Amino acid sequence: MAASRPTHSPHSSLPGAKAAETRTALLKRAARDAMDYLEGLDKRPVAATPEAIAALNALRGPLPPGPTSAETVLHLLDTYGSPATMAQAGGRFFGYVIGGSLPASLAAGWLVSAWDQNAATFVASPAAIVLEEIALEWVRDLLALPEGTGGAVVTGATMANLSALAAARHALLARAGWDVEADGLFGAPEIRVVVGEEAHPSLFKALGLLGLGRKRVVRVPVDGQGQMKADALPHLDAQTILCLQAGNVNTGAFDPAAAICPAARAAGTWIHVDGAFGLWAAASPEYRKLTKGFELADSWATDGHKWPNIGYDCGIALARDPSLLRAAMSIRASYLAMGEQREPSDYNPELSRRARGVELWAGLRSLGRSGMAEIIERTSSHARRFAAGLRAAGYEVLNDVVINQVLVSFGSAERTLRTIERLQAEGTCWCGSTKWQGHTAMRISVSSWATTKEDVERSLAAMLNAAEE
Ligand SMILES: *Cc1c(COP(=O)(O)O)cnc(C)c1O
Repeated sequence: MAASRPTHSPHSSLPGAKAAETRTALLKRAARDAMDYLEGLDKRPVAATPEAIAALNALRGPLPPGPTSAETVLHLLDTYGSPATMAQAGGRFFGYVIGGSLPASLAAGWLVSAWDQNAATFVASPAAIVLEEIALEWVRDLLALPEGTGGAVVTGATMANLSALAAARHALLARAGWDVEADGLFGAPEIRVVVGEEAHPSLFKALGLLGLGRKRVVRVPVDGQGQMKADALPHLDAQTILCLQAGNVNTGAFDPAAAICPAARAAGTWIHVDGAFGLWAAASPEYRKLTKGFELADSWATDGHKWPNIGYDCGIALARDPSLLRAAMSIRASYLAMGEQREPSDYNPELSRRARGVELWAGLRSLGRSGMAEIIERTSSHARRFAAGLRAAGYEVLNDVVINQVLVSFGSAERTLRTIERLQAEGTCWCGSTKWQGHTAMRISVSSWATTKEDVERSLAAMLNAAEE
């Protein structure tokens, strides 16, 4: 039996009840504004207009001396903020590699914000920590990685690369009798880092932060798709970190892991995989073959906020031997109660953090195995349709469209850039430019669950229209 509530709470004379009422009204209003925003995406230009960007100036100025009602604050945000966003949550944003946000993840994110959990330790949030653990195991399973692999949910693939490479640095130096966490890198034995010529910039950033050096790397040449040439690898040994890529950010190409990994493993080399989006191909029976061999690595970095459409921010660092991640990241303090169970703060660079594992759990639970495979297959098929439509109109597709990435040239660099500018200004869809292997191209990355066949046809027509001189 529930205890009956006291009719006169000692706090009833305080503004608590009134505050709760106001808060409820505010949250309902926020939910309504958010739903109106999402429903309006289809009718607005994908890019923020110059007028909407200029109007953001209304929010500038010094911090007011006194309070503003939360309702006014929300009103200001929706009035000036919403129109100056990019319609990334819609179906026609093809820039960078940007997924949308699955409805289950978005809704879970609202709930998580209301929970206001600090997902640093189990004691601070049992729900957040258990949900994160379950989600990490689902990710391991979807990516077909070895049993026992474990890791951390971080902010993105940049932090996932950093975390995994910190584990690698620990492992290789411990092997050489050096405690890098205690003694730092000055005077430490050498570690060699081998990367592909088209490794993602975030990998170099991570190497720089770890004291391994952005430039102090051996670069392996790549082929005409950006794949590392297996026969151009330097001698590999147990003091080497080899960084492979699953999903080139321009072409979508995969380094030939099956040809490289067995010998690298035998040499005792630490193999790290930057698979920010491409590694998810393992979740599709149709595309799984592209990821063959990557399961032989020691660590992996990937993103929930790209192909799985979990919403920001959600990166995932994984290590075959999670105790090495722990050796690099663990934290203890007399005031932090820590038990026998896994503590997230022992596996990632942060202490206080939002419960982003909950949105990951919610999104994956809503998709299931087949739903994840369908996103991979549907977006890749949309990418092929873009490539076919552009080729049929006489434009050059520069890459083999193996997954969801298309690189197209509309002729000269100038003409290609003019086309992109016109397309972005026209507003039906949004694509960015790139310079890849000496060619200026438009990048089309189909990553969102929300993109429909109709979105593809509308966008293709807009592209062809923008390309006409
Ligand atoms: C996007 C991407 C990254 C960086 O990921 P963030 O989540 O933006 O930090 C790293 N590597 C590759 C291959 C990527 O596509």
